[in-house]
Amino acid sequence: MTAEPAATEAGRDFIRDIVQADLDSKKHSRIVTRFPPEPNGYLHIGHAKSIALNFGIAQEFSGQCNLRFDDTNPTREEQEYIDSIQADVKWLGYDWGANLFYASDYFDRLYEWAEGLIRAGGAYVDDQSQEEIRIRRGTLTEPGRNSPFRERPVEENLDLFRRMKAGEFPNGARVLRAKIDMSSGNINLRDPVLYRILHATHPRTGDKWSIYPSYDYAHGQSDAIEGVTHSLCTLEFEDHRPLYDWLLAKLPVPARPQQYEFARLNLSYTLLSKRVLTELVRGGHVAGWDDPRMPTIAGLKRRGVPPAAIREFVKRIGVAKANSVVDVGMLEFCIRELLNKSALRRMAVLRPLKVVIENYPEGRSEELEAVNHPDDPAAGSRKIAFGRELYIEQDDFMENPPKKFFRLSPGSEVRLRYAYFIKCREAIKNAAGEVVELRCTYDPATRGGNAPDGRKVKATMHWLSAAQSRPAEIRIYNPLFTKPAPDAANFAADLNPQSLEILGDARIEPAIAESNSPEPVQFERQGYFVRDSSSTADRPVFNRTIGLRDTFAKEVGKG
Ligand code: ATP
Ligand code: MG
Repeated sequence: MTAEPAATEAGRDFIRDIVQADLDSKKHSRIVTRFPPEPNGYLHIGHAKSIALNFGIAQEFSGQCNLRFDDTNPTREEQEYIDSIQADVKWLGYDWGANLFYASDYFDRLYEWAEGLIRAGGAYVDDQSQEEIRIRRGTLTEPGRNSPFRERPVEENLDLFRRMKAGEFPNGARVLRAKIDMSSGNINLRDPVLYRILHATHPRTGDKWSIYPSYDYAHGQSDAIEGVTHSLCTLEFEDHRPLYDWLLAKLPVPARPQQYEFARLNLSYTLLSKRVLTELVRGGHVAGWDDPRMPTIAGLKRRGVPPAAIREFVKRIGVAKANSVVDVGMLEFCIRELLNKSALRRMAVLRPLKVVIENYPEGRSEELEAVNHPDDPAAGSRKIAFGRELYIEQDDFMENPPKKFFRLSPGSEVRLRYAYFIKCREAIKNAAGEVVELRCTYDPATRGGNAPDGRKVKATMHWLSAAQSRPAEIRIYNPLFTKPAPDAANFAADLNPQSLEILGDARIEPAIAESNSPEPVQFERQGYFVRDSSSTADRPVFNRTIGLRDTFAKEVGKG
């Protein structure tokens, strides 16, 4: 599944064109955008698209981007999410400066405006149940029917609304609705709910409120209060725009923001619904929000994905007006491309097989020079230890090799990278018939990896000294889902049972065992790996960020 990203015109899209035109025509002198997450889960790669768009526009046009928490539903929102969202936006490389806001900052003003709307005959208290409201709302083909409470006198509405606020009624007993048009072709205009009763403790306002504004009521007004010029949201809100505009026109707001919609990011083999992600965590299908298999920002970070790779990915996919599914191979391409440039090369043996060099003196060892980055001489080199006992990768040996297998087999000769040519003499087996050790010889004349007589070998393999290498646990992550389009309604059926492989007996170079660097390294011939936060001094744990080549389809096939 190779996904070479199509070249997009750098940094131009229909929204940036609109912003540029609004500046050129002097409709606005300064651009204000916002990123408005609801703190009911961790951010995912889809949010990164919205973050990059909103913060990116503010940067490019010397404007401002606010981080605003859309905290209008206290039953689902938690401080943990507020904290993680701030950490993740910063980690992605964006900065809201002093412009951190909460919709709950505006609850008083929103309430006053709602009373004003009631006085102007634009809203009423409805005593119908949620179910009755739903039934009377009608369908796409059928108009809605007016509520029996729609013509309530203003004074009665005001009185009931105040008593809702005072906490006199139980949850669900009444709602405040805008009085628009029950026969509108747009269901969002069929007297939408503005306030509902909810006796719940809010992370910021505590027990002050027993009514909370709806998304539609809070969102546009918060935009207006903050002087947002361009309110960018995903396509599913296109049908909400007439309501957004209706409320701005009816209320004494200080500004008139304009909403624009763009396509949300969908990724193959991935589900980006917060409901599903929450269930993955709560149901124990993954180890937490930051499990490296999760498409969350926290998961990608723990997996070793550099923030610049996410920014590059989002830039390459661009911003369009039509929904589509992006091949996850494109994200992987961006990660590989960046890490290939930045990651230092190291050696690790994931599944070790012992090799004894019979003609290498016992008790001796020597140091060989290994380059840190083949394309970057400035990265320098390091010393690696060679000795009589080594480890190679189990996969690099076959007792009865097929014709095209050029790595180690009885009688064959290969190069150990940076070291010597070795030849296999004998494979030693255990009682079960498994090869547990190879007896080899080396050619001392090939030090550094070249034969003075000019003879060639067809394979170069990585290896480590048995005495000097260190033990490590290596975690290989495969796609979380086995299908390109997992079923969000029944996602458990599409989970990949082999999404995590733990290699508990791996060996790594001493230098990386001791390093606490958060930068991924390349384990030669294996891929990119990063130290996991659960590492201890004597047991480092490494996560595979990504393999060297696009083996994605094969990995899924195993699942
Ligand atoms: P859910 O996944 O439950 O629908 P949400 O993704 O809408 O929740 P919000 O916190 O409301 O969660 O999202 C904050 C912002 O991120 C919104 O402006 C939303 O449009 C945008 N956003 C969310 N998902 C995506 C996505 N997949 N692609 C692009 N933008 C997204
Ligand atoms: Mg939302």
